[in-house]
Amino acid sequence: MATFIVLLGPPGVGKGTQAKILAETTKLAHVSSGDLFRENLKNQTELGKLAKSFMDKGELVPDGVTISMIRDRISRPDCEAGAILDGFPRTPAQADALETMLSEFGSHVDVVPYITGDESVLIERVSGRWTCRAEGHIYHQKFSPPKKAGVCDIDGSELYQRDDDKIETVTKRIHVYLEQTIPLVEYYRKDGKLVEIDGMQTVEQVTKELLVALKK
Ligand code: ADP
Ligand code: ADP
Repeated sequence: MATFIVLLGPPGVGKGTQAKILAETTKLAHVSSGDLFRENLKNQTELGKLAKSFMDKGELVPDGVTISMIRDRISRPDCEAGAILDGFPRTPAQADALETMLSEFGSHVDVVPYITGDESVLIERVSGRWTCRAEGHIYHQKFSPPKKAGVCDIDGSELYQRDDDKIETVTKRIHVYLEQTIPLVEYYRKDGKLVEIDGMQTVEQVTKELLVALKK
């Protein structure tokens, strides 16, 4: 049966960083809703234009379009064995929709690592984040700098700072997360799927705890 992992946690806690490492280790697909929206933005699709108006304000893109984007993505062949979901679901309606779509595939959410962190550290992490233009590889100017400033170590593409990583937008995103995503913590805790992980440790320590959680 396929394995579906939902990574929960506030903006900047390290979901993307860890999802990329776990995808390599487990060979599961990495499905990042933020990356999918940014891809649409780059390709100037209608969805991209719509998403941008919400992303720029630090608000969530409406559930309907977000859910159908994820449905399309996890219907692709590379998700047959399962996926690591990073940034989705983020609202109770999205969590319900995920359950329905996975049950259509004869599957379900297996485990929900919940990565936690302090607001001041989250702001420091997001403010120093540099993202690769081609594939969304993630760096930090202080905590995980690229070998050459402004260039991705992995594919040589340009690194940029996301528009929504400015301090005002980050603070808004953290509040949106507390209001709209925190209810999912209880939803998955009641299901016995939640595993809390302290995201303030090093990248390596967080990965180690995630791998233990996945084995259970
Ligand atoms: P999220 O996807 O949850 O928003 P990211 O994985 O993009 O978080 O990480 C946010 C920033 O923090 C990035 O610049 C990343 O390099 C850095 N980062 C991620 N995990 C750690 C960690 N454990 N310690 C220090 N910096 C980290
Ligand atoms: P971070 O990794 O820092 O948490 P993301 O890349 O996941 O940020 O998300 C960036 C923005 O994309 C969000 O602020 C929101 O506007 C939009 N977004 C991403 N995932 C979702 C989702 N599941 N539902 C609605 N909007 C989303």
